[in-house]
Parts: sequence; C-alpha cells; structure tokens
Amino acid sequence: MTTIAATFARHQALHDEIAKSHPSLIRGMVWCRHCNKSRRVDPAECLRSGWPKCCKGTTMSIEKPAPVKP
Ligand SMILES: [Zn+2]
Repeated sequence: MTTIAATFARHQALHDEIAKSHPSLIRGMVWCRHCNKSRRVDPAECLRSGWPKCCKGTTMSIEKPAPVKP
C-alpha cells in the first residue's frame, strides 16, 4: 500500500541522497555568475523547494567562479 506520507519520505530520502552524492552540493555554497555574490544553502532544502536565484532571476551556480586575473 502506498500512502502519501510514504511517497513523501521516499522523495525526501532521494533528495538527501542527491545532496550528499555531489561534491559541489556537499559544500553547500552557490554563486551568482553576474555579481559574484556567494550564498550558503542547504542543498537538500534547495532540491525540495527550489534553487536560489539572484540577478534577473538567474539560477545560482554550484561551481565557484574562477578568480579574475589582474
Ligand atoms: Zn547576483
């Protein structure tokens, strides 16, 4: 028998699994490619409720931007 609660619990576990399996996600930091602002996030929470956005609604990146050379 499948209940809504059981389905939700499965999804929750899946999200936690994804968050743990990706090295960039474990770091829990995202960057905006436009303004270079960094932000600490809970990856599992982001996968559940939506990824953080910054300038002009751009999805923030889990890849740290390369430092600008002088
Ligand atoms: Zn920004």
